Amino acid sequence: MSQSCPFCRIVSGELKADIVYEDETCLAFRDIAPQAPSHVLIIPKDHVPSASHVEDHVLWVSLMVAVREVVRRISPDSGYRLVVNCGEDAGQTVPHLHVHLLSGRPLGWPPG
Ligand code: 5GP
Ligand code: ZN
Repeated sequence: MSQSCPFCRIVSGELKADIVYEDETCLAFRDIAPQAPSHVLIIPKDHVPSASHVEDHVLWVSLMVAVREVVRRISPDSGYRLVVNCGEDAGQTVPHLHVHLLSGRPLGWPPG
């Protein structure tokens, strides 16, 4: 756990979040500044700074299982997009790995 990391503070319960799913490895909660009608972040409970820092790649399986579960719960009828921003140039602002799950509106391509 990193004391300065907002997502670690959400995991520990220190910071409030609208949690939509939780399992042993992952937590999913609504983004504080949603970019679509439904915008959920799926994170590992352990502090991993970015996609490039994943050491045990089984973690990706856990994250995708959590994504699937969240999709089942919140957006069964619509399409959705998964985004992982990795590094400053990609727009990563929180240094704790997270998968954005966006849905509820048509999503343009290419992304900005
Ligand atoms: P990034 O830009 O790193 O890919 O995405 C970080 C996301 O985390 C942003 O969409 C931002 O709105 C969201 N975020 C940042 N701080 C908090 C917070 O304290 N609570 C919640 N629920 N979302 C946050
Ligand atoms: Zn963290």
